[in-house]
Amino acid sequence: MYRTHTCGELRIENIGENVTLAGWVQRVRNIGGMIFIDLRDRYGITQLGFNMELDAQIGEKARKLGREFVVQVSGEVIERESKNMQMETGEIELKVLALDILNASSVPPFTVDDETDGGEEIRMKYRYIDLRRNPLRKNLELRHKLAIETRKYMDGLNFMEIETPYLIKSTPEGARDFVVPSRMNEGQFYALPQSPQTFKQLLMISGYDRYFQIVRCFRDEDLRADRQPEFTQIDCEMAFVEQEDILKTFEGLIRHLFESVKGVQLPEFKRMTYADAMAMYGSDKPDLRFGMEFVEMNELTQNKGFKLFDDAELVLGICAKGAGEYSRKQLDALTDFVKRPQIGAQGLIYCKVNEDGSFKSSVDKFFDQDKLADWAKSCDASTGDLILLLAGNTAKVRKQMNELRLEMGSQLGLRKGVDYKPLWVLDFPLLEWDEQTDRFYAMHHPFTAPKSEHIEMLSIDPKKVNANAYDLVINGVELGGGSIRIHDRDLQAKMFNILGFSDEEAENQFGFLMGAFKYGAPPHGGIAFGFDRLAAMFGGTDSIRDYIAFPKNNSGRDLMIDSPSVISDEQLEELNLKVEIK
Ligand code: ASP
Repeated sequence: MYRTHTCGELRIENIGENVTLAGWVQRVRNIGGMIFIDLRDRYGITQLGFNMELDAQIGEKARKLGREFVVQVSGEVIERESKNMQMETGEIELKVLALDILNASSVPPFTVDDETDGGEEIRMKYRYIDLRRNPLRKNLELRHKLAIETRKYMDGLNFMEIETPYLIKSTPEGARDFVVPSRMNEGQFYALPQSPQTFKQLLMISGYDRYFQIVRCFRDEDLRADRQPEFTQIDCEMAFVEQEDILKTFEGLIRHLFESVKGVQLPEFKRMTYADAMAMYGSDKPDLRFGMEFVEMNELTQNKGFKLFDDAELVLGICAKGAGEYSRKQLDALTDFVKRPQIGAQGLIYCKVNEDGSFKSSVDKFFDQDKLADWAKSCDASTGDLILLLAGNTAKVRKQMNELRLEMGSQLGLRKGVDYKPLWVLDFPLLEWDEQTDRFYAMHHPFTAPKSEHIEMLSIDPKKVNANAYDLVINGVELGGGSIRIHDRDLQAKMFNILGFSDEEAENQFGFLMGAFKYGAPPHGGIAFGFDRLAAMFGGTDSIRDYIAFPKNNSGRDLMIDSPSVISDEQLEELNLKVEIK
């Protein structure tokens, strides 16, 4: 037996017992005739004491130990002379009577401490060492807990976890596919699933009316902090349901996870249409931890001789409560912020409501005190507040104002993590027109059903058609999204048509699904949650990387195994991928 206890287990009650522990050497301290070692495993740290006078031989052996050596020790649990009440095992130590070095360790490239001295790169390269640190271990424990609680909840509602294949053919979720060459089928490729979308729909046709899976998805996209080329979803589908059934069921899941894993009772799940979200927040994933809703100010600002306003399709204002004290410098910084190329506003107009009730704006020349008072009234601004205005093309100005609103929310400390504001965004448009390629794209995916009352409009004005699609947003983070699906073959064919697929292309790519629709497809719908993002939100950060055991960096590389990498000529040849160089 390698150990009788873990390194996090022994307490004052164990005094006098003879025990055996195994773990990694965290720290060695040499104090005169005594050597103290902190022994670490996943469960904690136990202090080991070696008395040189008592047993010089073991003492000599202990002296040779370095950080991260793997050792086994046996001895007696004794009470510590100077107790450390910060540590769970801090009242005892192990008086070591036998020491076995199970494996030596090279000096680790960084310290295995909560605050390590290792930079990002080196920690990614030695991820297996980094994972020994408490913060990462806690993240993985949290992730595990979320997975277990998800399975409990879903199982309790009769959902079946069913695996779907990874070697498939392209599923359009709006990203590029990763592909895998087939050795046995020359010139042909599998695609890795961007999601199990078509398979879960087929399972509904097979009669498994409640499916879920905690599943890896693959998307070849440019990476950001909250994206990875492979990521995990809680993927779900139900048959014989309407949108309302899905919202209720998965509101339940999210509530269960917050309660069981975080001990948090979520407030009401608000609901908002996509159109309202865009008009009030300029985003389809608004952060509702604070107000600062957009106010349309065209009437109050146009035709007063100020060109920026007069030329604009839309003038928007927001009221930043209590920011009336902003200095010239702070306002200049905000102007620079909105003018950055990533945001691209032409300028920022402000109006402060002074202590004496008067107004000071950056456009005093065009707007007298009465007119500014009207601004304040429409924005619900009072003494000490700051009104900020942007003007321009509707879509652009909304996007810009969204950025400014979030920035002001951050500056005023209104986006604190502990406060959770869940929101369902509903009634998304079905289609999105792309100027560059001159065609429609499905806003969610091509299997999403239009609102039944809009089906007729599909032939007349597809742009105006709304979808039976929904997203779950918490604090400005899109945690999940789904839709009621098309289950009618003709409607699905029409949808492919609108999306620019010829009948032949549709048949080639989705013949299997269209075929299945002939054999009794029930009405169905579903949703998928970003599992890594959920874990990151529970942990209080936006970096999903810290919640994945072996993530990739921003260039999609795994620095530890050094992948992607070239493969041998033999492998290429076998796969019929060898390019002849003439
Ligand atoms: N497959 C969709 C996605 O990955 C989710 C869904 O519609 O259920 O976003």
